[in-house]
Amino acid sequence: MIIIMLGAQGTGKGTVAGIISKQTGFPQISTGDIFRENISKKTELGIEADKYMSKGNLVPDEITVPMVENRLKEDDAQVGAILDGFPRTIEQAQKLDEMLAKSGKKVDLVVNLITPKDEIIDRMLTRRVCTNQDCKTTYNTKLNPPKVEGICDKCGAPLKQREDDSDPDAIRRRLEIYEEKTSPLVDYYKEKGVLRTEQVSISINRLGNDVAMDIVKDIK
Ligand code: ADP
Ligand code: ZN
Repeated sequence: MIIIMLGAQGTGKGTVAGIISKQTGFPQISTGDIFRENISKKTELGIEADKYMSKGNLVPDEITVPMVENRLKEDDAQVGAILDGFPRTIEQAQKLDEMLAKSGKKVDLVVNLITPKDEIIDRMLTRRVCTNQDCKTTYNTKLNPPKVEGICDKCGAPLKQREDDSDPDAIRRRLEIYEEKTSPLVDYYKEKGVLRTEQVSISINRLGNDVAMDIVKDIK
């Protein structure tokens, strides 16, 4: 089963994907995480990707698409996978359809998360991630704080703010790109009949956890 997470930055895609992954055993494949891992290990791919990421721009398809294709070929992704951060453009969605078709698969479910804009910016500024590469748990200093400030509950490693989350220009750029390039995917998948839209907002007291558990109930 191939599940895609859609939604602007700060809607909680990663959190929801993480919970679904834990409950189903399908791996969470986050392109942003894979890039960040490569950047911290200073691999060739990481050095190249960083040129785009640090400014909030998309990494070119020549790098991104084969990276996803290879990841989807790994053993743990054969029964199911949750794509978090890919596709981000119509072209990427078409390329994904093509690569899945080769192995007789298709996109089964697209979860589209919607959060009011003022909440989004606030969530991006208050987001913190665990610096332990094997953990990478995400927190939010307001909505989902760690028990001890600055320390990961799960592994005890220090938390930090992501570089592109601390730069207002990069935040603005990422939200612009989302509107322009990624939001058309909502219609793309609606037409295919696989779209599931979910509101995530403190104003209705519905956060990522609630959404994830509802989805897990439906797919199990
Ligand atoms: P966010 O959704 O908050 O921007 P991500 O971790 O999903 O965070 O992505 C971080 C950065 O990684 C993006 O701004 C972009 O530079 C790069 N990136 C991630 N996924 C893709 C993709 N599918 N195509 C191109 N670039 C990507
Ligand atoms: Zn941790």
